[in-house]
Amino acid sequence: MDSFTYKTNPSHVIFGPAGGASSQLLEQLTQKKLHAALILSTSRQVDKAANIEQFLETKAVGVFSKAAMHTPVDTTLEAVRAAKDLKADSLVSIGGGSTIGLGKAVSTRTGLPHFCIPTTYSGSEMTPILGETVDGVKTTRRDVKILPESVIYDVKLTLSLPSSISVISGVNAIAHAVEALYAPDTNPIIRMMAKEGIRALSQALPAIAESPHNSEARNKALYGAWLCGVCLGSTTMSLHHKLCHTLGGSLNLPHAETHTILLPHTFAYNSPSVATAGCDLAEALEGSDGDPVTGLNNFLDRLGAPRALKEIGMQEEDIDRVASLAVQNPYSNPREVEERGIRELLRRAWAGEQAKADL
Ligand code: NAD
Repeated sequence: MDSFTYKTNPSHVIFGPAGGASSQLLEQLTQKKLHAALILSTSRQVDKAANIEQFLETKAVGVFSKAAMHTPVDTTLEAVRAAKDLKADSLVSIGGGSTIGLGKAVSTRTGLPHFCIPTTYSGSEMTPILGETVDGVKTTRRDVKILPESVIYDVKLTLSLPSSISVISGVNAIAHAVEALYAPDTNPIIRMMAKEGIRALSQALPAIAESPHNSEARNKALYGAWLCGVCLGSTTMSLHHKLCHTLGGSLNLPHAETHTILLPHTFAYNSPSVATAGCDLAEALEGSDGDPVTGLNNFLDRLGAPRALKEIGMQEEDIDRVASLAVQNPYSNPREVEERGIRELLRRAWAGEQAKADL
């Protein structure tokens, strides 16, 4: 076995019973002698936030429901002002990566403890990573202080996630685990979590796509998303995440869709250099028949997932620009990142072609 270092992020995770998030949260706040929680959400999920506010009664001071994708700093500063005006002593984020990002951004600025109730599979709740946007430019930082105080998973809150968003959010989670399989700082524990996370999500997502209210599949997906989030928070991500970041930052493409479309292509690009990770992925990914690239192609087709960047806002003329941006700043990747190969990878992903390991 290769030598390795195993370091874990401090975390407190509660997998509660369906419908139990509010009472788990109340217990947490009471234990920590907190009595003035500000609840954060997007405008779309304000009802869920209001339900929690109602349940907490005097232990809640209000709802701030303006969370937005990519954590715009203007919104964060508005939420910081609201937290101060309302004399909040804690933050509760209920929602996906956008709301959790707001919780992290407000918590790091105010020092308020952040309790997180995830309702998608983004995995942000398990990472010490915060991406923020000022004037359309996104910067990302990593600090253990960014980690939420506690994470409460409640399957009932995920049942309302439309199946189309569930599918792309779940594939976004799988992408964290795939890159953890070959990360420069991976280790046997993380690889075990990555395989289990991929296995759970690849079994659950087809069932959710068919029937979004399937609680058993939802539970499995949430469990898989947690494991994949741990992988993201514990290792260094490579080509796949960097390319998604470049596409999101330079063209404002939607986060989970971009991850979904690119995953088979970025894995195909790296596949000549990651034979062991390829075997692990093929073993974990339901129905992959020993070939990870074909397995990913087939998996996305089976889910009816988006496959073409041109359908989510990318123009053909953007390919060259993004390819040259992608090779500008060196980062860790198992295979050298060459502009010619990246351009062809992007062209295939733009056109919606199947990924092939011949790049
Ligand atoms: P999101 O949080 O933007 O949610 C997508 C939409 O779905 C929103 O309108 C939201 O209100 C709605 N929604 C969420 N849960 C729902 C539910 N259960 N029922 C009905 N509607 C629901 O999407 P996301 O993919 O979870 O997060 C994307 C953001 O998270 C991006 O900004 C990305 O950069 C960030 N992110 C950060 C990390 C990290 O580690 N820092 C990790 C992953 C993603």
